[in-house]
Amino acid sequence: MWPEPARSGEGGAEECPTCRKPVEEALWADEHWRVDAVGSELRLPAVVMLQPRGHYDLTDLPAERAVELGPMLQRVERAMLGLGGVARVHVNRWGDGAAHLHFWLLARPAGMLQLRGTLLPLWEELLPPVSEDVRQRTLRALAEALAAG
Ligand SMILES: [Zn+2]
Repeated sequence: MWPEPARSGEGGAEECPTCRKPVEEALWADEHWRVDAVGSELRLPAVVMLQPRGHYDLTDLPAERAVELGPMLQRVERAMLGLGGVARVHVNRWGDGAAHLHFWLLARPAGMLQLRGTLLPLWEELLPPVSEDVRQRTLRALAEALAAG
């Protein structure tokens, strides 16, 4: 067995990159949750991250936040499906890299059946990036849908 490496933010909120990230950079946020774009390129119709604003992992997420999780996932999925051309929104939580709870939501392009299931995150990096103009329009549409949702 190999020793487990420390995850980002393992030492608490003071050293957690997620907690220190300005909320103004989020696509959408309220008092308790934020949704962020991921990376500087986009290879799928959309990829976002849903995170609590407080420094929690899944095991210590307060009950008040846990009951909001289902509706939050629905809100983000609806916004992503509303972009059009999206067959499914995959929700992933691995938690190996960061101690701050984060859900990856990946939009699978409609008709790209070879990207179904667990193949989507593996193949994503091999797809060509969309233009920056398309990426910016996508992020604006998501921000507006999340705000309306
Ligand atoms: Zn944190």
